[in-house]
Amino acid sequence: MFLSVFDMFKVGVGPSSSHTMGPMVAAGRFLDLLRGQAFQPAGLRASLHGSLAFTGIGHATDRATILGLAGFLPDTYDARAADAALAEIRKTRMLRPEGLPPLRFDPARDLRFDYDHKLPGHANGMVLSATDAQGDVLVQETYYSIGGGFVVTAAEQAAEPILDRRDAAAHPYPFDTAATMLAMARDSGKTIAQMKRANELMHRAAPELDTGLARIWQVMNACIDRGLAAGGTLPGGLSVKRRAADIHRQLLAERGRNLTAPHTINDWISTYAMAVNEENAAGGQVVTAPTNGAAGVLPAVLRYWLDHVPGAAPSRVAEFLLTAAAIGGLIKHNASISGAEAGCQAEIGSAAAMAAAGFTAVMGGCAHQIENAAEIALEHHLGLTCDPVKGLVQVPCIERNGLGAIKAVAAASLALRGDGSHFVPLDACVRTMMETGRDMSERYKETSLGGLAVNVPNC
Ligand code: SF4
Repeated sequence: MFLSVFDMFKVGVGPSSSHTMGPMVAAGRFLDLLRGQAFQPAGLRASLHGSLAFTGIGHATDRATILGLAGFLPDTYDARAADAALAEIRKTRMLRPEGLPPLRFDPARDLRFDYDHKLPGHANGMVLSATDAQGDVLVQETYYSIGGGFVVTAAEQAAEPILDRRDAAAHPYPFDTAATMLAMARDSGKTIAQMKRANELMHRAAPELDTGLARIWQVMNACIDRGLAAGGTLPGGLSVKRRAADIHRQLLAERGRNLTAPHTINDWISTYAMAVNEENAAGGQVVTAPTNGAAGVLPAVLRYWLDHVPGAAPSRVAEFLLTAAAIGGLIKHNASISGAEAGCQAEIGSAAAMAAAGFTAVMGGCAHQIENAAEIALEHHLGLTCDPVKGLVQVPCIERNGLGAIKAVAAASLALRGDGSHFVPLDACVRTMMETGRDMSERYKETSLGGLAVNVPNC
């Protein structure tokens, strides 16, 4: 199995990796498909299914799909250019992606939220069509946004898992379970981060890997700083107040006072996480970790370590990220990181497991303690449902990142106080998460049809 650290940590836009980034990526893939065809299409259509329909408005899936069909991509997204392009598309009802003729597209008519037909491959399905001048379909493709910004076609989804398409034999440490990861660490004498790094070096040179990792942390950290400086309310109609900046100001003012309660450190950790997810909810630039909805957990733990833990050193950020990515890859490969597929346990639970693993590594934990920390963090998110109010990635998502980060630190701390031996193996916990997700009612899997989404008045 190989899943790159840059698959787990992708620079993108809020508010959702599966509902915003994924559809934009799918639209980009469809444009590439059209560019390779001999015929000239005259128009485009899109339909959104399952969770993409039910929570698409709140997650800005419509906006992301239109912009994707206009040629925008998450990695290079420019919010101001996107606003201008959207206004132009609504006025002219035309799309002008590079390398294709102008294409008819009336957002009110050609983008459809299909609430009645869930597609068979995944909860997040979309169908993109290119038409001729008469409106007859020339080419059509079904895409699934399977979480964390990953997108597969219907054919790819039906084939072997996405991760297995890269040759496992081509990597020095092809672990696909926590058990094999631990065995390889034991046999090689290497840390999890060193094994992950060796695998990554089969795909890119060391300077490129290091530069890429540094950029990932720079974007994560900049996102925290922007969130800590921003005020006002979040878009979407819930009038949710941004709180990270205000709490951060309070914490700075309390610094140095003798009577500050020890549990105040929890406020620092959750404020870093909330800063990220407030930025995400505002449509800002974030890094999937492993998704947008859970993007605050890991950066918060990393920032906590760097700013508050004696002995922390920026030179070890790469070790944190590589270890976390190894654990995230195991969860994605063997279960899911998609809230629409397995509930919030798959998003915040996975993020907490990744953060706990990374933190344990830089705190000097061995491979068994890292596996233990990830398991504790994931185990205590099992059963967590996804029920965002009004389909917005705000309530409960923003605070949930803060609590996920606190749990990750607590899990790592518990693991570091042991010798790595523990009752529940990470592999069993990952399997349990997936089975629990399969048994979970659709109402609790990013449809906003149950839970807080129906019990909290949202106007
Ligand atoms: S409840 Fe959890 S899974 Fe659902 S949108 Fe919010 S963060 Fe994502």
